[in-house]
Amino acid sequence: MFLAGRRDCDAREIFSTGHGAMALRYGTPLVVQAVRDRVVDRGELAGVASSEPHSGSDLRGLRTVAVDHGDHLLLSGTKGLVSRVEEATGFVVFCKVVGPEQAAERHAGGAWLREVPLSALWLPTQTVGVLSETTVPLGLRGWSMGHLHFDNVRVGKDCLLGAPGDGRRIFDTHFSGWRLMMALVCLGAATAAIEETMDRARRRSVGRTSLANVPSVVSRLGIAAAEVQAATAWCFSLLERMDQEGDVDVAACSAAKALATDMAYHAVDIGLQLHGSEGYTRCVPMEKRLRDIRGLRIADGPNDTLYSVLAQSLLAGAGPGVPLVAQRKP
Ligand SMILES: Cc1cc2nc3c(=O)[nH]c(=O)nc-3n(C[C@H](O)[C@H](O)[C@H](O)COP(=O)(O)OP(=O)(O)OC[C@H]3O[C@@H](n4cnc5c(N)ncnc54)[C@H](O)[C@@H]3O)c2cc1C
Repeated sequence: MFLAGRRDCDAREIFSTGHGAMALRYGTPLVVQAVRDRVVDRGELAGVASSEPHSGSDLRGLRTVAVDHGDHLLLSGTKGLVSRVEEATGFVVFCKVVGPEQAAERHAGGAWLREVPLSALWLPTQTVGVLSETTVPLGLRGWSMGHLHFDNVRVGKDCLLGAPGDGRRIFDTHFSGWRLMMALVCLGAATAAIEETMDRARRRSVGRTSLANVPSVVSRLGIAAAEVQAATAWCFSLLERMDQEGDVDVAACSAAKALATDMAYHAVDIGLQLHGSEGYTRCVPMEKRLRDIRGLRIADGPNDTLYSVLAQSLLAGAGPGVPLVAQRKP
């Protein structure tokens, strides 16, 4: 992902099974086979449909419902803004599974839905009743973005991922890794931006010297490089913990994504500035990087909320004696 980001943030889709990983990990054999065929073997894209027009960061506020009719579910609601609405072969949809009586008696917009635990299901895009509409985002335009509408979509019960109510666990586990991946995309883009800017600074003369000899320029490039290196090291250390110890630190992964995308944005902004007016044009990739990274400071959880996740976890922790910085197990 880091290397993809160096090339172009839109190249992130080339690697990995993306959000299809949730279907592969938690799906029934039928879902796993379908996703393996389409996403793993054919390289098609898998999307995630969590956000809704009235509620993005607040997962409990989601109102898309899947009414349980015994052997099947009827899915209704609207998702968006969602990436890959035109390209994805299927979506992992986060919704609330309710009984027909619950659905009939209570208004879908009611507060009662907040108490229904989140569920996840795999929904092939071609299913009857799934409609999409696109919009034009500021960045990340390599792939479409828009809304998905579900109009009483009939979904087999075997499309559920895990058991009904497992959605939050699936979301947190998947997005811990995913957020680090998106962080690394942005850090790759920032690294390329710093390198290109250093190269330009060496060649560009101002008065009798080069831009690379101006102390304030050097200092800003040094800060950007240090921030990007620190954020990259944090992301890789969290990935290493996941890989070697199976330790998914949801709070740290959330904050690492926030820090990495903020630092990457800062680095690219310095890069754009030091490219002068050229940086403000499409002749150099700074403006695209800036627009793309800007989106990833909101997507997959807005950074403001992700920093709060870390603070809340620390505040609720065991108290004095628990190290702020996780230490390697002996
Ligand atoms: C490029 C891009 C791609 C996306 N792709 C997808 C996708 O594929 N699938 C999908 O489901 N969604 C996707 N989203 C939607 C994204 O997940 C939501 O935009 C995000 O979760 C925020 O929800 P919201 O837009 O409803 O903002 P809101 O929840 O209305 O929040 C607005 C702002 O208020 C602030 N805020 C909100 N809550 C808090 C809080 N508790 N503490 C402090 N500040 C807060 C934050 O600054 C936040 O940005 C994408 C978004 C973008 C920008």
